[in-house]
Amino acid sequence: MNKKIRNHPRVVDPETGLAGCTCDFEHPAPQVTLYSGEDAAQILAEDCRAVYGDRPVLLLFDPETYTVAGADLQQRLQAEGVNLTSYQFDSHPVATAALIETVRAHSKDVALIVSVGSGTINDLGKYSASEDHVDFWCLPTAPSMNGYTSGIAAIKVKGVKRTLPATPPQRIYALPEVIQQAPLKLRQAGFCDVLAKVVSDIDWQCESLLFSGRYCGLPAAMMTEVEKSYSDYPEAIGRGDKAAVIGLFNGLLLSGVAMSLAGSSAPASGGEHLVSHFWDMREPITGREPELHGLQVGAGIILSAACYQRLSQLGQGDLPRLAEQLFTVTAARIPTIWGAYANEVAKQFQNKRDALHQFDTLLPQKWNSLQKLFHQVHPPEYFADLFARIGAPFSLDAFRLTEDEFVLAALNSRAIRERITVLDLAAHAGVLEAATEDALQLLR
Ligand SMILES: [Zn+2]
Ligand SMILES: [Zn+2]
Repeated sequence: MNKKIRNHPRVVDPETGLAGCTCDFEHPAPQVTLYSGEDAAQILAEDCRAVYGDRPVLLLFDPETYTVAGADLQQRLQAEGVNLTSYQFDSHPVATAALIETVRAHSKDVALIVSVGSGTINDLGKYSASEDHVDFWCLPTAPSMNGYTSGIAAIKVKGVKRTLPATPPQRIYALPEVIQQAPLKLRQAGFCDVLAKVVSDIDWQCESLLFSGRYCGLPAAMMTEVEKSYSDYPEAIGRGDKAAVIGLFNGLLLSGVAMSLAGSSAPASGGEHLVSHFWDMREPITGREPELHGLQVGAGIILSAACYQRLSQLGQGDLPRLAEQLFTVTAARIPTIWGAYANEVAKQFQNKRDALHQFDTLLPQKWNSLQKLFHQVHPPEYFADLFARIGAPFSLDAFRLTEDEFVLAALNSRAIRERITVLDLAAHAGVLEAATEDALQLLR
């Protein structure tokens, strides 16, 4: 008996979803669909059988996500007669190129990969499926990051964390109770990751004003409605209040879609993300196991907000014109900071040398318009207070970061990526050190 294939609503309605566009560029139609309900595992199993029939399907999970949702889903898929293979990662898997190869060895000839989990398991499934051109679905277990719906995956290649293109899942099946009961720290991480947009959107506007002209108001417009359901309710998220946690989860899904629609991670990833990438990339050197992505980003948000606050207090006449000198000094620190990875980092920094050189003339020219943007950002205290109100500690200690490592990232992470962010603006305006100290005060 053939079951009917169900179609679920898109995360962003293709009819109305692009209404907030303010640019002249084309956006792809949003494709990801979402089914959310207590019966999501059963619906996934039935849809899987209806769409793929007898074709092989690979299910991915780790021991933790197996317990909260994987075991039940596995049983339901088997009961529906799905031709199923399962692969269980060890606890706390890391998304490395080697592990991708392991997944791909198990996914030969499958029609679909289904990930049960959050950041890493989702990235492993998404990237493997994308490489082999097979379909990908996911069943999220935590509102911990915005990568579920994004068109990128964070994979460690030869020790260096890279953000690689990967096709978003076609379908997401969410179990509200599982999302709601995710560990407190994962909820706090998701809250920080979704709020990154508040500073990264301004980074993007500054970059667009100075160089590319590619800013579009669509991602911000898409988030405006849903934001109200979580932004002001950190305590409710901390308590596990259903409306607030599901609001946060929906915000994360939308934020990932917004990135794919913008064709760039710029709307949700600015300077605040660079410090997090910096700490991830430094793992082989420091031996520090990275903290949850969202929490490291949260520390970055406080730094970005401190930069904006310092910048907003500067007049046009206060701007030093030291672009060449600043580039040389920053580039000279790369070998000591990066050791074996110095060449790779130096290449990235070199890529933005021309843009940085133009700061001497562009910053004074555009200062009045930039000032208007700087003033839109809340002070760093606002974010530090919000993050702490979730109820889990929010400090460098809690993230196993030393003050030295924080300062190193704050002053040097702008060298690891080509993108122009607030960290470049603050460095060139001469306020990066002071803003770093401001942020430190709030993170002690
Ligand atoms: Zn647009
Ligand atoms: Zn993020």
